[in-house]
Amino acid sequence: MSDVRAEVREWAAENWSLDLTVREWWRRLADARLAMPAWPEPYGRGMSNKDARAVTQELAAAGMIGPPQGVVGAALAGPTLLAHGTPEQQARYLPPLLRGEEAWCQLFSEPGAGSDLPALATRAEKHGEGWVVDGQKVWNSGADVARRGMLLARTDVDRPKYEGITFFVIDMDQAGVEARPLRQMNGEANFCEVFLTGARVDHEDIVGQCNDGWRVARTVMALERAMVAGRPPKGLVQVPSGERAGFLDRTIGEVLERGERRPVFSGNAVPARRLIALARERGVADDPHIRQELARYYTLNETNRYTLLRTAASAKAGRPPGPEASITKLAVSRVCQASRELTFSILGAHGMLDGSDAPYDGSLHTVALASVGVRIGGGTDEIQRNALGERALGLPREPDVDATSPSATSGANPMA
Ligand SMILES: Cc1cc2nc3c(=O)[nH]c(=O)nc-3n(C[C@H](O)[C@H](O)[C@H](O)COP(=O)(O)OP(=O)(O)OC[C@H]3O[C@@H](n4cnc5c(N)ncnc54)[C@H](O)[C@@H]3O)c2cc1C
Repeated sequence: MSDVRAEVREWAAENWSLDLTVREWWRRLADARLAMPAWPEPYGRGMSNKDARAVTQELAAAGMIGPPQGVVGAALAGPTLLAHGTPEQQARYLPPLLRGEEAWCQLFSEPGAGSDLPALATRAEKHGEGWVVDGQKVWNSGADVARRGMLLARTDVDRPKYEGITFFVIDMDQAGVEARPLRQMNGEANFCEVFLTGARVDHEDIVGQCNDGWRVARTVMALERAMVAGRPPKGLVQVPSGERAGFLDRTIGEVLERGERRPVFSGNAVPARRLIALARERGVADDPHIRQELARYYTLNETNRYTLLRTAASAKAGRPPGPEASITKLAVSRVCQASRELTFSILGAHGMLDGSDAPYDGSLHTVALASVGVRIGGGTDEIQRNALGERALGLPREPDVDATSPSATSGANPMA
């Protein structure tokens, strides 16, 4: 057993108790710098990705609650602040994120700016020492429970559209910010539309330079592609962080007991082995078409696993993320769509049932309907293909007619 695994086992045995509150458990993880051990000191331990993964694998193997993710806090906001934030911004925002006290959201997309993100129209205007923000964002995951937002706003309308954008950290807990949850077709409400009406941001909360927010946004988008492709280790208990999510002051015992009542299937895709087991259980494992599709699904998952290993090896060798990030994001999207098709083929007519009448109380349906979002979130499949065509295959760049005109709209490729 590696030193890291031995140390984590010993530390967890001394620190884990069902009587602790989630708040106290996360505080202990953060104090031991085991919440995000790959982050540099003083926030983490500067561990290699392999050792950091060993830490979460050890927690998962013991069925423990994993480090706080905070919707996009740990995966996107933290690494972005480490890359572009000032030491003061890091000292202010990273500790509460690591202790799970503050969840984050990403305020990028707008009704008129998704794939063409640089066309965003939310304005921030300087007033005295701070900025006042007006506009509307949409599809913002977890915005209703987030305390902090990564906000892109236009600060100079006379500059070309990529250049007049600034990246701010916004306090979501203020009168000028209203997050309204949006109901998805699977019944869940994971994201919101966010209305910003005279919302205030301090000048110190600009990340990077004023009007240079696109550079910071590109870091977030690269991290997002990796986030969609990555998976937490099996067995790790994930609990929503942030004061508004309502878990911090519950005991671990209570939270785990609630977890036992969780749906049988969750996420955006059903793992291949579970789909094979489902086909056997439903008596269709001998159907030649389903056998063929199960084999195809298994192969797709395995090839994707090898591509992920290639991506990890490239990161370990210190190479910047290349086209494999777009490939893995696209492959995950294909896995999710194939999972949905197979699920309904296996269920047959039972696929038409709803809620508690449906197999597994409808949890298979919830997963199948959530699969569609993976094609869109973090850059659509079409945009990933554009990026691969241009960057990996060297095809001519997509025309971007208004790239140099003042904050105009339409036609750009945000992955470019
Ligand atoms: C589950 C989920 C979570 C999300 N979370 C967040 C979040 O937390 N924060 C946030 O800010 N946003 C979030 N989004 C929004 C997401 O980033 C956008 O939906 C996405 O960028 C697409 O933008 P759009 O919906 O405006 O579609 P559009 O950009 O209008 O695209 C419509 C269609 O046209 C295609 N298309 C557009 N431009 C091109 C082109 N140049 N070439 C070829 N095809 C093109 C697209 O692929 C798509 O099929 C989330 C979305 C989902 C589904």
